[in-house]
Amino acid sequence: MTKYIFVTGGVVSSLGKGISASSIGKLLQARSLNVTMLKCDPYINVDPGTMNPFQHGEVFVTEDGAETDLDLGHYERFLDKEMHQANNFTAGKVYETVISRERKGDFLGATVQVIPHITDEIKNRFRAISKGADVVIVEIGGTVGDIESLPFLEAARQMGLEGGRDNVLYVHVTLVPYIKAAEELKTKPTQHSVGKLREIGINPDIIICRSEKPLNADIKAKLSLFCNVPKESVFEAQDAFSIYEVPLMLHKQGLDDQIVMLLRLRTHSKDLESWTAMVERLRKPQREVTIALAGKYTDYKDAYKSVSESLVHAGIAHSARVNVRFIETTDRDLESKLADVGGILVPGGFGDRGIEGKIQVVRLAREGRIPYLGLCLGMQVAVIEFARNVLKLAGAHSTEFDARTRYPVIDLLPEQKAVKAKGASMRLGSYECAVKKGTLAHRAYGAATVRERHRHRYEVNNKFRKQLEGSGLCVAGTYAAKDLVEIVELRDHPWFLAVQFHPEFKSRPESPHPLFRDFVAAALARSAQKAHAR
Ligand code: GLN
Repeated sequence: MTKYIFVTGGVVSSLGKGISASSIGKLLQARSLNVTMLKCDPYINVDPGTMNPFQHGEVFVTEDGAETDLDLGHYERFLDKEMHQANNFTAGKVYETVISRERKGDFLGATVQVIPHITDEIKNRFRAISKGADVVIVEIGGTVGDIESLPFLEAARQMGLEGGRDNVLYVHVTLVPYIKAAEELKTKPTQHSVGKLREIGINPDIIICRSEKPLNADIKAKLSLFCNVPKESVFEAQDAFSIYEVPLMLHKQGLDDQIVMLLRLRTHSKDLESWTAMVERLRKPQREVTIALAGKYTDYKDAYKSVSESLVHAGIAHSARVNVRFIETTDRDLESKLADVGGILVPGGFGDRGIEGKIQVVRLAREGRIPYLGLCLGMQVAVIEFARNVLKLAGAHSTEFDARTRYPVIDLLPEQKAVKAKGASMRLGSYECAVKKGTLAHRAYGAATVRERHRHRYEVNNKFRKQLEGSGLCVAGTYAAKDLVEIVELRDHPWFLAVQFHPEFKSRPESPHPLFRDFVAAALARSAQKAHAR
């Protein structure tokens, strides 16, 4: 029988519940269990696809084209396993299903209610992903005490009632704040939040306490007594130097032993060797390099989570620390901000704020021979820059930003022009890309065909392709079925490569994405060269 672990969060948001859930997943997987993960988001949007990244961080795209919560990125990176549509759902999606069933007449005669109809639908979705899994870890978004997450918590409670204590486990991730003036760690917020959970009928089996300072035995005893959780089930998660260290920190305290014991799981020996080695490499870099990330949400780093993680992974491969310098492209004097960097990355994006600055950044990378990696919008601006400054097509643009440009080098395909309802209507998910021999991309991938994930509406306009290629822009990858440009490169440049897709969704700490890996290698080479010249 599949076992369920429900992970809830208390006291405040942004506790790193996703990291705790992923770490539990990692630890159980290291004991040869088949683990899958699920994230429930309590908001009413049907998916996060139409939400501003300022609100919710990056939208993570799965192979099958689901626009999901960024925690799914952590799940994929920690478990080295693909997540799909069914691994994330929102309250909006649940209500949408129930209401459309009501319209069809599935509940004729009944009053459709939160309990049981909404909670049944939630439980169906909990169960739908259990196939082949020994353990399903369900992370419930929001903070205990919020109105919105109540139906999810209620469904989790019912799962415990139906499944029995050996099969369902509740883990509460909470904050134990340190009050400087009193020089004390405070347990009261956790007591209250566990009290709230108990009101709903959930008694946590395990508490993971986020704190700045170590929890001493007294604090643990107090938490145990007031929260009605055995002392052996109180764990601490102090701030770590890297998120990838968290599974190891929890393992040292015996978290996986405790879970395995409580759920009566039969497991094999633990294998955390390669993960530990990876964390060691991350801890002791031999060199460092700075990458400029020229985006739009530079004050809100979660908007570029997968991109910055991919840079970390590439750094691990080269035993290098990669520092990311966020560049606001609306700023003046971009040149001086980029003078000392090893490489420049323009990530994906929507909307025209800072777009001219991004085009300027590409120009600086191209002319200054600075390694460049463009992702999605980062490829579109690379094409625009090339059209304007090499082909001399003044005012060349994407019709996303200038509907009436004379040179629409980036444009919508007819099927995108026909789109009326915006939700989930972009080119989404995994597509095959044919990679041309003799290119940087081919060298990186070492393969003639690859699959990469997409999330965009606009494409390179094939009407300009001959002209672009004729002047030295190399099309290194295409989606053959529709003859769409997927990768462009510059030949007369140390390393300039831009892609229409999002390689950042496929990078993992123990297997960095080849394009990020080679980009960081080029950036390291530039930094070494500059240091030598000095
Ligand atoms: N806004 C561009 C498009 O829709 C790029 C999207 C992206 O960078 N993800 O095509």
